[in-house]
Amino acid sequence: MTLASPTRIALAGIGKIARDQHIPHIAASPDFELVAAVTGHAAPDGVPGFKTIDEMMAAMPDVQAISICTPPRGRLSLIQQALDHGLDVMIEKPPAATLSEAQAFARAAEQAGKVLFATWHSREAAAVEPARQWLATRNIRRVAVNWKEDVRVWHPGQAWIWEPGIGVFDPGINALSVITRILPCPLLLGAAELRFPSNRDAPIAADLDFTDTAGVPVRVEFDFDQTGPQTWDVDVETDDGHLKLSMGASQMAVDGTPVDVGDEPEYARLYRRFAECLRDRVSDVDLSPFVHVNDAFLLGRRVTVGEFSE
Ligand code: NAP
Repeated sequence: MTLASPTRIALAGIGKIARDQHIPHIAASPDFELVAAVTGHAAPDGVPGFKTIDEMMAAMPDVQAISICTPPRGRLSLIQQALDHGLDVMIEKPPAATLSEAQAFARAAEQAGKVLFATWHSREAAAVEPARQWLATRNIRRVAVNWKEDVRVWHPGQAWIWEPGIGVFDPGINALSVITRILPCPLLLGAAELRFPSNRDAPIAADLDFTDTAGVPVRVEFDFDQTGPQTWDVDVETDDGHLKLSMGASQMAVDGTPVDVGDEPEYARLYRRFAECLRDRVSDVDLSPFVHVNDAFLLGRRVTVGEFSE
């Protein structure tokens, strides 16, 4: 246990990820106690629900922190309200709808003297740190990322995912959060192609060609329309073997031989990291994966493809 007593935490936005991951992992954590929810719908069993943070804080002034699981658009006002009430804040990825918004709430947290943890859950996958260490002592020749999943399975009926903006970069940013952690040099985008369904305002697929600052080519392919087996792979060819991360960086192999990296769940680590930030009173806000998404929208050639249907 990292905190002297459990932090009284609220959850905002009780949708798929709050129910699948946040609620069970808060319940399992010795560092947090779920005491309230900010929701337009039903609160989780056993805790009171409030329509707004203001209402919650009027009724429960002893709430200490909030974990925000709403879609990225519209978070700035939620975060500002939370900071105004003196709450420490954890947010789901992607951090915001725009880069300027994310920068604004990072500054606001700093000015308020509150902890802000902008999470990247895929960075907490079990193989990420072992991969970073393995790569740190080797010369990398090339990198290939294939992050391909079925939006109908992972975002069933979610209208927000197709609003102008992020689309396939919602899962794709998970891959970017992994490679920006494990690769030793910063990435620079050279070219991109974004493919938009003719009936949607966000891309369903994207190819990105980066080089890192040492000149290593990094090819990244995202697809939101992959039925059947799902692919969340990173392949790194080095002068001393081939590293493969699979299943969203929860598994690792070197030259085809599996490496034991344990199996601690991402969200258990995420809440442990938030507890460390609270104990040390430091924020953790790395916007670099989001900067690469912005670059892709700036440089990307746009191609219209067939209609998308659920
Ligand atoms: P979701 O199922 O649509 O739930 C989002 C919740 O946010 C809604 O239930 C609603 O909560 C609240 N909300 C507030 N404003 C909203 C709006 N304009 N449109 C829709 N919902 C709104 O979304 P999700 O899949 O949980 O994703 C939420 C965040 O978690 C996203 O940033 C996503 O990238 C991230 N995430 C998702 C997954 C996944 O597998 N789906 C995995 C990792 C991370 P109330 O019902 O309580 O009002």
